[in-house]
Amino acid sequence: MGKSDIIRIAICLTYYHICGLATTNIERLCKGSDLSVTYSKCFCPVCNKRINWFLQLPIISYIICRGRCRNCASKIPTKSLMLEIIVFTVMTVISAAFDFSPKGVLLSFGCYELIKLIYIKLNGKRDKSFIKEYFISMLFIVFFLTVTEFMAFLLFYIEK
Ligand SMILES: [Zn+2]
Repeated sequence: MGKSDIIRIAICLTYYHICGLATTNIERLCKGSDLSVTYSKCFCPVCNKRINWFLQLPIISYIICRGRCRNCASKIPTKSLMLEIIVFTVMTVISAAFDFSPKGVLLSFGCYELIKLIYIKLNGKRDKSFIKEYFISMLFIVFFLTVTEFMAFLLFYIEK
């Protein structure tokens, strides 16, 4: 495994992190939520119990817990799981199709924002401070875009 493979894996891991972030970064912009997108503590919406850090792994935790809360056994919405899977798959596939080039990374993040808009359109936007929260959610994404673009440029110069 060469240096360039390590960078490719690191980019995929960033997408994996972003797909987990989608449940706060996207779902909290939708109707029924009044939490800020910056509030990072995860808890069960039914029994309010904090979710352990090792059970916060996107997609994998859902499978380990069979889609239920460890404390009260209430069902975790499959919609959240679907959102995670879609975000991770779309971003990884697009990036891979462009061989993890800076252009491909930009396109991946563009698609993330598109998924966000579609998801909000389908579920309705939140009533309180939507614009402010949307702006903050975008700042998060711009931060991750910058980090990922840095890795993509590094890859570009290594392979040249
Ligand atoms: Zn619970």
